Amino acid sequence: MIRIVPLGISGYLPIHGRHSSCFLVLTDRTTFMLDAGTGAARLAESKIRKLIAGRAELHILLSHYHVDHTVGLYYSFTQWKSGPQTVHCPVCPFVSANPDEAIGRLFSPPLNSFELKDANMKVAPVNKSSFTIAGHRITVWPQQHPGGSVGFRIDDEVAYMSDTVVMMENVPKVAGVKMLLHELWLNEKDSKEHEKEFKRHACYGPVAEFVREARPKTMMPVHLYPHYSDRQLEALTRKLERETGVSCLFPEEGQVYRLT
Ligand SMILES: [Zn+2]
Ligand SMILES: [Zn+2]
Repeated sequence: MIRIVPLGISGYLPIHGRHSSCFLVLTDRTTFMLDAGTGAARLAESKIRKLIAGRAELHILLSHYHVDHTVGLYYSFTQWKSGPQTVHCPVCPFVSANPDEAIGRLFSPPLNSFELKDANMKVAPVNKSSFTIAGHRITVWPQQHPGGSVGFRIDDEVAYMSDTVVMMENVPKVAGVKMLLHELWLNEKDSKEHEKEFKRHACYGPVAEFVREARPKTMMPVHLYPHYSDRQLEALTRKLERETGVSCLFPEEGQVYRLT
């Protein structure tokens, strides 16, 4: 039984009580963290600590290196106490980056009093479109976003697509998945007024089209626009459900969602 625990559902800014992107995926064999935004701070909360107690290893899958997705590495490296952490970092041909240098920068003076070699944290480059972690098949694909990003999928359980424009060619990548976590940035009205956002993020209209085609069992919108209220975001989620016919869940941070 797979459980998903949103720790950060906000895009970019951690405000209105919502942290920036971070999700736990708990399986019978291991623990994944999808992105390490400020939500990783919730590892220190008692409810989350109970959930992860005794879990040996943490596999952090990074979509890209923007700070709203990596600042939580500062927190996970002290708050994940029960075993080693591996940060799976996209590299060429997906993203042009040197992860040892990029993550190493976060863990070196004057930004940090700890160096990467002192942290119980390993950097693993992701350069293949398919590989295995603890018996789970991980599938990876490139996405369009300033600097590049990747989407990934764990078995037929969960797919994660954040910081991407909507790319209909990626519909087959998520076919048959139980839970799709997909970015939902501006609503229709605001995206019409800020057209350049269509080149950076996934706005409502194209997301609805994607979900209608991909037909996951359940959709959970993520990397939500930080300046909308919970009420506005919930209404947007309901509208997405109505207009796509796909069951949509408005994520609550710290809540446990079981995939059946
Ligand atoms: Zn972001
Ligand atoms: Zn980004």
